[in-house]
Amino acid sequence: MTLHNLGFPRIGRRRELKFALEQYWRGELSQSQLLAQAAELRRTHWQWQSEAGLDLLPVGDFAYYDQVLTLSATLGVIPPRHRQGEVDLDTLFRVARGRAPTGTAAAAAEMTKYFNTNYHYLVPELTAEQQFSLCWSQWFDEVKEAQAQGYQVKPVLLGPITFLHLAKTVGEPFDKLQLLPRLLLAYQQLLTQFAEQGVSWVQLDEPALALELSPLWQQAYAQAYAVLQTAPVKLLLASYYGSVAHHQQLISALPVAGLHLDLVSAPEQLAPFAAALRSEQILSAGVINGRNVWAADLDLLAQTLAPYAQQLGERLWLAPSCSLLHTPVDLEVETELTAALKARLAFARQKLTELRELQLLLQQPDSEVAAVITQRCRARRTRQAADADTAVAARLAALGAQDFNRHRDFSQRQPLQQARLRLPLLPTTTIGSFPQTAAIRQLRNRWRSGELPAADYTRLLQQITKDTIERQLKLGLDVLVHGEAERNDMVEYFGEQLQGIGFTRYGWVQSYGSRCVKPPLIYGDVSRPAPMTLAWAEYAQSLTDKPVKGMLTGPVTLLHWSFVREDLPRETIAYQLGLAIRDEVADLQQAGISIIQIDEPAFREGLPLKQSDWTEYLRWAVAAFRLSASVARDDTQIHTHMCYSEFNDTIAAIAVLDADVITIETSRSHMALLDVFEVYEYPNEIGPGVYDIHSPNIPGVEEIVALMAQAAKRIPLRQLWVNPDCGLKTRSWDEVEPALRNMVSAARELRWRL
Ligand code: GLN
Ligand code: ZN
Repeated sequence: MTLHNLGFPRIGRRRELKFALEQYWRGELSQSQLLAQAAELRRTHWQWQSEAGLDLLPVGDFAYYDQVLTLSATLGVIPPRHRQGEVDLDTLFRVARGRAPTGTAAAAAEMTKYFNTNYHYLVPELTAEQQFSLCWSQWFDEVKEAQAQGYQVKPVLLGPITFLHLAKTVGEPFDKLQLLPRLLLAYQQLLTQFAEQGVSWVQLDEPALALELSPLWQQAYAQAYAVLQTAPVKLLLASYYGSVAHHQQLISALPVAGLHLDLVSAPEQLAPFAAALRSEQILSAGVINGRNVWAADLDLLAQTLAPYAQQLGERLWLAPSCSLLHTPVDLEVETELTAALKARLAFARQKLTELRELQLLLQQPDSEVAAVITQRCRARRTRQAADADTAVAARLAALGAQDFNRHRDFSQRQPLQQARLRLPLLPTTTIGSFPQTAAIRQLRNRWRSGELPAADYTRLLQQITKDTIERQLKLGLDVLVHGEAERNDMVEYFGEQLQGIGFTRYGWVQSYGSRCVKPPLIYGDVSRPAPMTLAWAEYAQSLTDKPVKGMLTGPVTLLHWSFVREDLPRETIAYQLGLAIRDEVADLQQAGISIIQIDEPAFREGLPLKQSDWTEYLRWAVAAFRLSASVARDDTQIHTHMCYSEFNDTIAAIAVLDADVITIETSRSHMALLDVFEVYEYPNEIGPGVYDIHSPNIPGVEEIVALMAQAAKRIPLRQLWVNPDCGLKTRSWDEVEPALRNMVSAARELRWRL
C-alpha cells in the first residue's frame, strides 16, 4: 500500500522562505544564499516525509513564489513586459511583483484565488500565437536534488487542462482550447525529460474537474490524456477540492495509470470510482484533510477503507486529500496551546504520521499499536463531545423566524433612521480603518510582549482614536468611524475574544508569494463572554455628536477566514458566530450607537465551486448575517461592506441580507458594476466606492464628482452614499487626508449641483 503526498508546504515552519525572499528582494541576501536556504527547506521537508514512511515524495511543490507561476515559467509562458532573454529566478519575481527587466514598473501578472481556497495564484497570460517550450529547469533540478538525497520522487504539477482553464487570454480574443495541441507537445517533452531522469510516476493535478465543465472542456480532457498516454511515465491524475462524480464517466475512461480522489470533501465518490477502476489502474484515496488542521478519525477511516484495501490490495494508495500547502507546517513548534486542543490538531507534518498510522490500521488491524491508535481516536471524540457548550446549542435550537428578521421593512425603517440620524443627501463616510502606522504596531507589540501595561496601551490607543475622530471632524465627514487602531486583523481581533476559538503561534499558511495568514481555529462552540468593541465605540462616540459607526466583522467572514471544526455543519457554526455578533450589536445599540457596520468581505469567497450548490450556501450565509443584524431596532442603521464588485450572480442574495446600507468596491469599474443593482431595483442604500484605496494616488474632486454622477444615473440619489472602496489601514495619513478632503468636497458640490 503506497503512501504518497501531493505537496508539502514550502514556507517553512518558521516562515523561513518568507523571510529569505523578502531579504532577497530588499537586496540583503544574495541569490546563492536564497537558493541555499530554499534547498535546505526542501531537504528538511523531504526528510520529514521520508521519516514518516512515505514511499513517493513530491517534487514540484516547492515554488519561489507560486507553483502556477513555476509551471508558466517552465512552459515559457512569461509576459513580454517582464521578460528579457533567458528565464531566470528574477524573471519569476518580475512577473509576480510587477517589474520590467529595466527595473521600472510593469504591471504584475493578475493574482486571483485558487479555486475555493485562500491561496492566490498568478494568472498565466496566453496569446493566440502562444508558443510553449521548456524554459525553466527548476523541477528537473529538484528531481536530481531529491534523488541525490536518496529519495524516490513523483513530480507534481498542474495538468494541461487546468492550466489552460486558469490562464487568461491577452490581445485578440480567442478560444484558449485552440492552444491545447501545442501545449500538449510541451507537456510531452516535460514528461519525457522526467522519464529520462528515472522518474516512473508523474502526478498531474486537474482540480478544474471539480467544476462544472462545458462539453468542449470535457472533450479537451479526453483529447489531452489520449495524447499524454504515450508519454514514457505513469500518470496519476489528481482531483481535489470537491467531488468530481459529475464527470465520473469521463474520468474513469481516461487512459491514466492512477486516479487520486479527494475523499474528505466528497467521501461518497469512493464507491463509484472504485467500481469503475480498470485492473491496471491504482486508486489514490485522499483521506487525510489537506485543507484543515484537525486530527483525523483514523479508526473510522480504516473502517471505511478496509473493504477497498481488501479488494484493491496494492492498488490502493493513501494520501492527503490535496496538497498540504493549505495547512500550517508543524504542530511541534506550538508550545502555548492547551494540551486538550493540541490533541485535536494535526498540521502538515503530523498528517504524514497519520497516513502511516492509517496504513498500520489497515494492514495490522489486530496489532497492539492499532489498538492504541483506535483508543486515542475514541478518547479524543469522547472528550470533544464532553467539551460541548450546551448553552450554545440550546440557544441555537430556540431560534425562530423572528430572530432572523428586522421588525419592519426597509421602506419603513428608512424614514425612522433618517429622522434619527439627520444625514444630508449623499452622506460621506469611510469603511472603518484609518492608517495603521508603525507607531500603532509598535505599541501593540510592546503590549503583547508585556513591556507595555494594558492600561497604558489602552490610554495611548485612545489618544490615537481621539486624533482620528478630530481629523474626520475637520474633514467634514458625515458618519465617522473610530479607526480600528486597536485591531491587528479584522478576524483575529474578534477571534481572540470569542469562546471556542483558539490561536496558534506559528500556524501560518501561505496566501501568496511571501504573504502568509494565520487563521484562527474554531474548535468549540462559539459564544461571546463579554463585549468586544463596546468600549472603543463608546469612547469614540463620546467625542462627537456626529454618528460614529460601530464596526464588526460578520459571521460569514469570521467563518471563512478560520480553520473550522468539522463535527458540525458549517451552517451551524455560522449561526453560532451570528449569535455572538448579534450580542455585540445589541450592546452597541443599547449604548446609543446609531449605526453599526457588519463587514462581510469574504461573503462571496464562500461560494461553492459548483454553481448548483450556490443556493444552499447563500441560504445559510444570508441567514447567519441576518441573525447577527436583526436584533437592531428599526432606527438603528445596519451597514455591511464587501470589498469586491461582482454582484451579477448574487444580487438577489445581497438584497435579502437587508442591510440598510451596503458599501462596495466600484471605483475601478467606473460604476458600471452598479448596473446590476439598477436592473434589480435594489431597494436599500448603497455606497459605491469612489476611490481605489490600493493605490497611493489621490483622487481629484472632479474625478469623484464624475464617478458619483455615473452612479446617480443608475441609483436614485437618496439611496447613495459617498465613501472609499475599502478601509484605509494600509495608507498613510498624507494620502488619506487629501483624498478624503476631495471626497467631501465632491459630495458637497454634487449636493449643490443636483
Ligand atoms: N472595516 C474594515 C476596514 O476598514 C474592512 C476591511 C475589509 O473589508 N477587508 O479595514
Ligand atoms: Zn473592504
